[in-house]
Amino acid sequence: MGEPEHVLICVAWPYANGPLHLGHVAGCYLPPDIQLRFERALGNRVLLVSGSDEHGTPITVTAEQQGVSPQEIVDKYHSINKQALLDLGCAWEPNVDPRGIEYGGALFNRTSDPRHKQLVQENFVALLNSGMFEQKTMQQYYELKSGGGGRFLPDRYIEGTCPSCGFEAARGDQCDECGTTYETSELTNPRSKMNPDNDIEIRDTVHFFFRLDLFQKSLELHAEDNWPVWKNNVRSMTKNWLDMGLRPRAVTRDLDWGIELPLEGDEWSGKCVYVWFEAVQGYYTCARIWSTEYADGTHPDGENAWERWWKNPENGSQPRHLYFLGKDNIPFHTVIWPSLIMALNNTDNEISKDDDLRPGPGDLHLEDNVPAMEYLMLAGGQFSKSRKHAVWLPSFLERFDPDTLRYYLSINMPESHDTDFNWPDFVEKINNELIGTYGNFVHRVMTLAERLDEGKQNNPLQAYDDISKQGELIAKINQFHNDITTSLQRHRYKEALRSAMNIAQLGNQMLQEATPWKFLKTPTDANDEWYAGQQQSLGKLAFAWRISRCLSIVTQPFLPFSAQRLWSNLGESGNVSDSPWTDALDWESEMTWDGQSPTPLFTKLDLDEIISQETQLADDSTSHDNNDPTHGVKGGKKKENEKMTDAPEGTTYLKFDTFMEVEMRTGTITNVTDHPNADKLYVVSINDGTDEGRTVCAGLKPYYNIEDLINSSIVFVANLEPRKLRGVMSEGMLLAADDGEGNVRLITVSGEISNGSQVR
Ligand SMILES: [Zn+2]
Repeated sequence: MGEPEHVLICVAWPYANGPLHLGHVAGCYLPPDIQLRFERALGNRVLLVSGSDEHGTPITVTAEQQGVSPQEIVDKYHSINKQALLDLGCAWEPNVDPRGIEYGGALFNRTSDPRHKQLVQENFVALLNSGMFEQKTMQQYYELKSGGGGRFLPDRYIEGTCPSCGFEAARGDQCDECGTTYETSELTNPRSKMNPDNDIEIRDTVHFFFRLDLFQKSLELHAEDNWPVWKNNVRSMTKNWLDMGLRPRAVTRDLDWGIELPLEGDEWSGKCVYVWFEAVQGYYTCARIWSTEYADGTHPDGENAWERWWKNPENGSQPRHLYFLGKDNIPFHTVIWPSLIMALNNTDNEISKDDDLRPGPGDLHLEDNVPAMEYLMLAGGQFSKSRKHAVWLPSFLERFDPDTLRYYLSINMPESHDTDFNWPDFVEKINNELIGTYGNFVHRVMTLAERLDEGKQNNPLQAYDDISKQGELIAKINQFHNDITTSLQRHRYKEALRSAMNIAQLGNQMLQEATPWKFLKTPTDANDEWYAGQQQSLGKLAFAWRISRCLSIVTQPFLPFSAQRLWSNLGESGNVSDSPWTDALDWESEMTWDGQSPTPLFTKLDLDEIISQETQLADDSTSHDNNDPTHGVKGGKKKENEKMTDAPEGTTYLKFDTFMEVEMRTGTITNVTDHPNADKLYVVSINDGTDEGRTVCAGLKPYYNIEDLINSSIVFVANLEPRKLRGVMSEGMLLAADDGEGNVRLITVSGEISNGSQVR
């Protein structure tokens, strides 16, 4: 491996006017976290920057609708969204890389940070003084307040009749009914959305425009440079913009919620920096603020550490810039932001349209790749914050293991086309793929290994470990590992995760063929055929432990929580996220062992239960008329807990008559199958002395093989009310002893007695 690279990962800034939904997560927030974890495992120095976009009309509209101040809105949603991203496992904390400050870190900032404001104002002045802006007079609607005074109305504050279809509640610049876009002045019957009774009129207003047109040629050259690595959607959107010809774009507007213009004079009061102009600069200000806050005094470059990630060095390798965003945001990151960066690089130079302004040594670097995603749809429709058609991240994480969401969104990522989120598909992919292929494999390895174990000191598989016999499997896994690496380098997350699952699949097939569960007994004769078979079969089981270790490392970027659980279950110390990427292929590592009874990595999901929770949530939010979708779930949870604590507390003596009400009988186990929907359950058929027999679900799978149970003479509770356990009717209960330390043994009958005999 060469020198570690400096990688800047930029994540689109979410508006702090509502909670994040799963559409945002799939499009913007999960992919960069996978990339960051992968880059760190490769040994690269990664700086991750983003934060809450707290200015502009999306915030003020929400605030006016809810009757609170914009500040209250942004404070609330900044903390909700940051917490939700942390709960999803996104590495926004700690702020300094665990390997040290030279390796970078992360900052989830906010555009209301005064240091952001100061840097944006400095840039504004520098661009203005170097002739990158021009002034123009525009016409804008102005609302006259009844008591005198008034305000300019941004497009979002205007409503009227659509000039195309006649829809009466059309927005200022676009009709939600027919999709047509238009100039606000084309609306018929225009009115103030917030105060429809106030008079409005058109007034002149003066604004600054950024000379985007100066950068047409440089942007075309820059796009050509990146053509080979950009995705199709990025290429086509960028080309559309460039083909239309770039025109100056307004950088100021009439609004008081934003960064005020750093200019003297009454004519500029009531105006602020346009939110697009300041939010894109957040990638730059955030790196500088991170540097001041964390690198000053600890990094060799002190508070200038940010330059390592932002500036092309005089010699040596350049930093790599990756931007993660949804497809609606592409031109801001391939046209507008790079032109601003080139403008900032040239504030001391006279420039013209014919210059090639691509950055040289000492300049701020431009984006290398923009792996923008298409949309994740909800049941066929687009996720929408304003229409509240969404599954919200905070409430999702209150109910589910974050890795289940990370798995589902990764395997279903809208990389090259829109994909759909729906609950049945979610449950199916989690139960059948994540658990069925991966979770069950590693759990099987560990339960089988545990059954070999007596002293719980060393890994009992060590005795059978011989990697010289596994050459063919190793070659296949090396190939899968290589595939994962290549896919991640190309930002093909879905493909990468599929290759990781292929490793688990390969492990499953190997175990299925080797049938190690038949060879767990101590051999009686070291020379017989059985012994030779045992050596070979358990050799595969030992290799399965090594495959599990490999899986822990390669799934870590996608599934950090379960990867860490697996890592610890394997007896490895520390964090799997600190393991170098290529360590996944270290087939000679020490075979560690934690000596604990293995627990499954995941819990199976029950679709019926989820659907009823969803219905409950929908009912809750409508009956309370609660506009805040982050609530609602808590109510559902509480009810469930109350139901569970209905049971009497403490222990009391049992009346003899009560005991006699329990009817226990003997029976013989005639058949055992795996429960289709539960990891730990067997479905056990019992000859109970009747012609029909009975079926009981029993949690014996971690403790017994199927073949060890068949023909056992057992005791069961015969008059327990029948109930469905994960879809299978259970008529009674097998009696077993549990020492509380992970040992469970069935109560069996010694000697012969007919089935159905009463036990007392
Ligand atoms: Zn219309």
